[in-house]
Amino acid sequence: MLDTRYEAPKPKVIAGAKGDWELVIGMEIHAQVASNAKLFSGASTQVGAEPNSNVAFVDAAMPGMLPVINEFCVEQAVRSGLGLKAQINLTSAFDRKNYFYPDLPQGYQISQLYHPIVGEGEVLVELAPGVARLVRIERIHLEQDAGKSIHDMDPTMSFVDFNRTGVALMEIVSRPDLRGPEEAAAYVAKLRQILRYLGTCDGNMQNGNLRADVNVSVCRPGDYERYQATQDFGHLGTRCEIKNMNSLRFIQAAIEYEARRQIAILEDGGKVDQETRLYDPDKGETRSMRSKEEAHDYRYFPCPDLLPLEIEQEWVDDIAARMPELPDAKKARFMADFGLTDYDANVLTAEVDNAAFFEEVAKGRDGKQAANWIINELFGRLNKEGLGIADSPLSAAQIGGVLDLIASGEITSKMAKELFEILWTEGGNPAEVAAKHGMKQVTDTGEIERALDALIAANPDQVEKAKVNSKLAGWFTGQVLKATGGKANPAVVNQMVAQKLGL
Ligand code: ADP
Ligand code: MG
Repeated sequence: MLDTRYEAPKPKVIAGAKGDWELVIGMEIHAQVASNAKLFSGASTQVGAEPNSNVAFVDAAMPGMLPVINEFCVEQAVRSGLGLKAQINLTSAFDRKNYFYPDLPQGYQISQLYHPIVGEGEVLVELAPGVARLVRIERIHLEQDAGKSIHDMDPTMSFVDFNRTGVALMEIVSRPDLRGPEEAAAYVAKLRQILRYLGTCDGNMQNGNLRADVNVSVCRPGDYERYQATQDFGHLGTRCEIKNMNSLRFIQAAIEYEARRQIAILEDGGKVDQETRLYDPDKGETRSMRSKEEAHDYRYFPCPDLLPLEIEQEWVDDIAARMPELPDAKKARFMADFGLTDYDANVLTAEVDNAAFFEEVAKGRDGKQAANWIINELFGRLNKEGLGIADSPLSAAQIGGVLDLIASGEITSKMAKELFEILWTEGGNPAEVAAKHGMKQVTDTGEIERALDALIAANPDQVEKAKVNSKLAGWFTGQVLKATGGKANPAVVNQMVAQKLGL
């Protein structure tokens, strides 16, 4: 059930010649488990290694080699399941999915069809403040990745690299609860964020570290509600599955294209064939890869090399006790404790490292000001230089030091920006650097008063104008700031101008 704080978004509607159509989307996401070793061997999972250098005998399917389950990969799957508020199955089992392909030396993939390690869960996907979709998770199972065929290294030969063979993947299957392209992309982004918080998947989509198979169908208004009420898929349209998507932008474009393609067929009196399709980003269209009729018969059967996987509740409880704070909780806490806006809280919790940095700066300081500085000054500058938070030349302590100088009235925010620049290139202790560069706000009201009195005496016309239109008093503030070399506190000056002019 969707939390009462949220309202569900409207489904995407596409108008047809004979009435409206709605979209229905379900996803299968393959997330590579963050682990140094493979699912059933001790070989390294390091990317960019010399081809075929990280291959154990069992990965190469040498006769007589037996797989041995990697406990850490199981723990990662359990942690992911807990992060998706899912049922953890204390007994699960591995099955063989048989097919022939040159990058699959065993001739089968070890997967979990009948008894996955993780059962039903849910993910809250926020689309705007107060608007969210609750996506039901059907299951997560553990399986092996395949190797990689290389066709572009030689004009006549193909090569194969087994380094990826046997690396652990989690397949995360959602119910068909997504109702539009934006929601679908937001779901992938949210899942990626949760897995990165948990440290169970790096989520590097460009490297294919996290990729999605996107199932799309269309139906008439009311059909989806009938499906929800009965869980009978008969109320939904026939789906097509778009394979291996690893870009949020392409996911949206592919769904949009695919929905319109299906609608055109249906409006023409035809029927949609259930098939697997590929998205071509150059053409912006999907094309058929194979139909369900010619789909492989994988002849799944329980893998005889592995015993059922039994885990203990105490072990699961122990993993649960060590769970980090997850994005939703962190966001809510940042809003409550630091008074952040929804937007700022989203930005600051997008990546766990950014959130930790913010918290270090904000602790014991004005949270809203810390957020502004980190989002506008620090992130702005890091983005410009193409750097991540881990490479930031300024530490949280240094930014905190700058904020302290503003808070104590020692420097103006204009000076603080200059100080930020100097610290960025030269480093150092903020207070010392500020002193060295003569950054000191004029707090001596006597000096400000003298400058203002002189201005008032020399500009009687301006005084009269400002008395008629108080907006013109800003001229005096500007002149005083100029006269004091930008070192006066604008708020103090403003106040004194208003007082002297009797505004
Ligand atoms: P398969 O393994 O053959 O792809 P599954 O039953 O595991 O079949 O379903 C795969 C995905 O397809 C799930 O994410 C599910 O939510 C989604 N799905 C099922 N029916 C539909 C539909 N009518 N429209 C869109 N997505 C669907
Ligand atoms: Mg599928």
